[in-house]
Amino acid sequence: MAKKGLLVVISGFSGAGKGTLMKELINKYDNYALSVSATTRQPREGEVDGREYFFKTVDEFENMIKNEQLIEYAKYVNNYYGTPRAYVDSQLEAGKDVILEIEIQGAMNIKKMYEDAVLIFILPPSAEELKRRLVGRNTETIDVINARMSRANEEAVGIENYDYVVVNDILDESVEELHRTISSAHNRVVNNINLISNIRDELNNISNKNC
Ligand code: 5GP
Repeated sequence: MAKKGLLVVISGFSGAGKGTLMKELINKYDNYALSVSATTRQPREGEVDGREYFFKTVDEFENMIKNEQLIEYAKYVNNYYGTPRAYVDSQLEAGKDVILEIEIQGAMNIKKMYEDAVLIFILPPSAEELKRRLVGRNTETIDVINARMSRANEEAVGIENYDYVVVNDILDESVEELHRTISSAHNRVVNNINLISNIRDELNNISNKNC
């Protein structure tokens, strides 16, 4: 039986460049599956339904909550965002490392539900650079940018709850660092409970035979 994949939660301030980092990671390595979230926010220019997000009305989203079709959801700057359950479960079973690119409340919920999930926070090189990237993206009004900066301020307090941080500075290097971080997380004790328990059983069997 294939080993189950790892649930990988990636968070970072809006504008930290997580999206680009994820795309590169997935293009370069084929052991990852990126979960596509549902949201009630409006599509940005160039975004395609089913690719960046599944764009939903508030009613549709609330129905998904009611029918337990989401493994977690949160409200972020006045919109709902949530992770559809079916894709995550099937990809984990198939042995893929499933990446959820979600904000901090959702990340904390995942941590409570899946103790073997690995939580990684992507940092920008500096706060100044973060603001510059948000403004340069040119997709949001100044009010939304300010709301996102103030949300970043709140989220910064929660970074200690993550397992790792990766600074997103030079793209290629950050992709490699992220891949190395996830690869080494496979070796955490919490991700090898079955292996450990099998070896214990074998050891017991052998020592019982020797008695
Ligand atoms: P954006 O509107 O910039 O695409 O995303 C806003 C925030 O929502 C980002 O921090 C992103 O990581 C987060 N987000 C995206 N999908 C989900 C999700 O399924 N669940 C949660 N909790 N947050 C999400």
